[in-house]
Amino acid sequence: MAFWLIGHIADPLLRKLAWKKLKGIFVSKFWPQLVYDDIFASDKNYYRATAANKPCPRLETDKSYDIVIVGGGLSGLATAKHLLNVGIKNIAIIERHFVGWGASGRNGGEILPGFTAPVTRMARRYGLEFTKSMWDLSTKGVADVVKTINELDIDCDLRPGYVLAMEPEGYNQKSVESELDILEKIGHAKTFKSSQQTCAMLGCKDGYYKAGLHYTDAFHFHPLKYLYGLKDYLLKQGVSIYEETPCIHFENENDGLNILTPKGNLRARKLVLCGDSYLGTLVPHLRRKYVLIRNAMIATEPLPDTDNILPSGVCVSENKGKLMYYRKTADNRLIIGGGDTIRPNNDPKDTRKHIVELCQNSIADIFPQIAGIPISYVWGGYIGITSNYLPYAGSKDGKIYYMGGYSGHGVNQTHIWSALIANAIKNENLKTASPIDRLSHLPMPGLGDYDNYLAQLGMLAESVMEKFD
Ligand SMILES: Cc1cc2nc3c(=O)[nH]c(=O)nc-3n(C[C@H](O)[C@H](O)[C@H](O)COP(=O)(O)OP(=O)(O)OC[C@H]3O[C@@H](n4cnc5c(N)ncnc54)[C@H](O)[C@@H]3O)c2cc1C
Repeated sequence: MAFWLIGHIADPLLRKLAWKKLKGIFVSKFWPQLVYDDIFASDKNYYRATAANKPCPRLETDKSYDIVIVGGGLSGLATAKHLLNVGIKNIAIIERHFVGWGASGRNGGEILPGFTAPVTRMARRYGLEFTKSMWDLSTKGVADVVKTINELDIDCDLRPGYVLAMEPEGYNQKSVESELDILEKIGHAKTFKSSQQTCAMLGCKDGYYKAGLHYTDAFHFHPLKYLYGLKDYLLKQGVSIYEETPCIHFENENDGLNILTPKGNLRARKLVLCGDSYLGTLVPHLRRKYVLIRNAMIATEPLPDTDNILPSGVCVSENKGKLMYYRKTADNRLIIGGGDTIRPNNDPKDTRKHIVELCQNSIADIFPQIAGIPISYVWGGYIGITSNYLPYAGSKDGKIYYMGGYSGHGVNQTHIWSALIANAIKNENLKTASPIDRLSHLPMPGLGDYDNYLAQLGMLAESVMEKFD
């Protein structure tokens, strides 16, 4: 209640008084929840428990850099790497918490080509050429992650293969055929698997899925081990990383920018905003591009018999229904998440109970042989969903660059847009020189206040649009 009052009355007032610097320091010191209300903050995250982070210092004094990146997730670290690749050095990354604290250290670990926007809808709305260029980029994004793992020799449990599993509920043979047809036309054909073949690959209950699309060009990994490996590399290359250093505010100053953090200010020629769904209202026009939904996951105890669950080693996501996604970890646990985790209230206990029930019920349905298996970890994160399930990236003024809006399909995309933004910075361009330059996103009202309602509305619209896919 107190935070609600502060958020709805005191915060807008402070903003109006243009008391930005003072407010930022005050709020981030005494009410970090206001800077970002994270109901998953105290959760037990499998990735954090199984990867070793070497902490970086806070920013304590004023400094100058050529480029400052806000956000220490996949977008931020991949941007630093791509900037180095185009010859730009003197880079700092500032992260409010620690590297991998956001969605990048909480996700399903599925490295998939494509986008959350269904390929059929992309083709219908934007044409085949647009869809092909986007999918070509997405496979480059996947390849970039794998190349980075191999080149930097990062031990992050990389495994190949993915199956898009067709839920019986709402299964539509015609729409699967048109999806396969478009994928083939744009040069990204996938292999159709019958119900029997799919269930044999997954080790699930006979007939549980109606069919599956097998992607041999997809992978899964431990995302936090990957990020920590990338972080080590960047530090060795001379990139400065400051943890526990929130960007409170930034302002134009002569030919550059002044970036405010609680203990020191940074001067930079350019700023790259890589906070995605955790950026909050730092830049209001970016916050209007998406609604936030919550998504959560669990990890079981190590499986008693590892051969009868996911014997093919692939990762999986469902195309409809509860939209569960799952895979087996290197230490033979089942990680599973997804479903209807949008909750109308903010009670963390309620949310956690809901997640565990949902995942336990899904395990019992899909893999009855391990129904009731104890759960060791429960965690979750936020996903920023745009109106067209497609991302945004670019710059308005050539000083501030941004990327985000991956709509829950971000591992490949962080590597696509960071590479294109690094090129844009190098060439002093405002655009990414990619098909997304022509996209516009429906602006979402309320700066987050109505996200629950907008998300429910979006789901309703989605169920109508699915009829045309
Ligand atoms: C539960 C879950 C499962 C998912 N599963 C998958 C999956 O299997 N495959 C897939 O492709 N995608 C998945 N996603 C989406 C994917 O994880 C994200 O799209 C991707 O990680 C976004 O990376 P990012 O670096 O842009 O943002 P983040 O990883 O969220 O990082 C942003 C960082 O910016 C920091 N930050 C924000 N504002 C400030 C500020 N003012 N000052 C300093 N720091 C700031 C935050 O603290 C945060 O650490 C999933 C997401 C969730 C939540």
